[in-house]
Amino acid sequence: MKKEFYKSVGFKLGVLSFIILASLFTSSFMFNSQIDKLKKQIDYIYFGNYMPVLKLHSIEENYNDLIKCMRSYKKCKRDPFFKSIKKDWDYYNNSYKDIEERKVVSKIDKSVNNSLTYKTKISTYKNVIKRINFLKEYEKKIAYKKRVEFLKEYSSMKDYLFYNMIALIIVSFIFISFIIYSIIKKDNQLKILTKKYALESITDSMTKLYNRKYFDKIFDNMPFISNQNSWHTAFVMLDIDFFKQYNDTYGHDLGDETLKAVAKELKEYFNKDYEYVFRLGGEEFGVILFDIDEKTLKECLKDVNNNIQSLNIEHKNSKIANVVTISIGAVIYKPYSYTSCNKLYKIADECLYKSKENGRNQFTIYNEGE
Ligand code: GH3
Ligand code: MG
Ligand code: MG
Repeated sequence: MKKEFYKSVGFKLGVLSFIILASLFTSSFMFNSQIDKLKKQIDYIYFGNYMPVLKLHSIEENYNDLIKCMRSYKKCKRDPFFKSIKKDWDYYNNSYKDIEERKVVSKIDKSVNNSLTYKTKISTYKNVIKRINFLKEYEKKIAYKKRVEFLKEYSSMKDYLFYNMIALIIVSFIFISFIIYSIIKKDNQLKILTKKYALESITDSMTKLYNRKYFDKIFDNMPFISNQNSWHTAFVMLDIDFFKQYNDTYGHDLGDETLKAVAKELKEYFNKDYEYVFRLGGEEFGVILFDIDEKTLKECLKDVNNNIQSLNIEHKNSKIANVVTISIGAVIYKPYSYTSCNKLYKIADECLYKSKENGRNQFTIYNEGE
């Protein structure tokens, strides 16, 4: 039972869908952590370096050093200061600026470039320093604003990705469930069909009793099962009396109906667990009764004779009654007696013959002492 379950399509698909869902969850988790990493890196590049402010700071320092130099030496060499101020300013000025920033920066660009001459006075440099300081504050403000915007965008992007992932997982889950459901349904239908065909292959189509093929199977295994369970088991053969005359009198179709009626009666009577009724062929039936004693068997067979007669199926050309009757022969297999199936069959058949000889509508049970 357990083995069958592990082999079933449903189980395999269950494992497959578990793997798919687990990989979806893992990838979404990894994706999320990658986004976090990316955010940290962008944050670092954008704000960690703080390049614009650093450049402005270095320009301011160079102006201050230039003022100091001019105050200390009448012939202060300004070129090196101009050079590094120009270099830092160009770097700053050429870096990316949006329209708003560009407007503010281009105003100060003129003052810086104009200041880089020997004619410029200390007071002008001081003015430029003030403007540079203003730019520094402006850059800090812009950076703060950008950061807030970035964080807002980042968190909405993260939410968007998260809900997308959830939607993807739900859709995949529904899709997989649907596939599993349809395959399991198909699998069950197949099982039902197989069961149905298995049952049909062991059933006699006319009487709905077990057929000869199934009888052979059960009968062959009967001694073994009886030994294993220490059961006494009866094998019974039953044959309708004067059935040829019945057909001749009432026709083959009514004969079929009578066969069905007798079969129904036998099936209803032997309806417990370990009781099997077969159609052995023609108007001949077989019954195997596991775990039975002789007394009970006698009572059963007596009942069967009476019940068939009580069906009251007219048979005016029967030589022993005016209704359909049945003759019975039976043998009991004793556990570990190792009597062969062939022999058991022969004995039951001989008992049936005896019942016929003794006047029909009766049963004979094999007695070992005889
Ligand atoms: P006995 O009492 O000795 O058993 O006599 P009997 O006439 O029953 O035995 P016999 O073997 O001479 O005849 C059996 C008859 O059963 C012959 C056959 O036409 C009939 N029979 C066998 N199978 C079927 C069946 O499927 N349908 C019908 N209607 N008759 C069947
Ligand atoms: Mg007969
Ligand atoms: Mg017969």
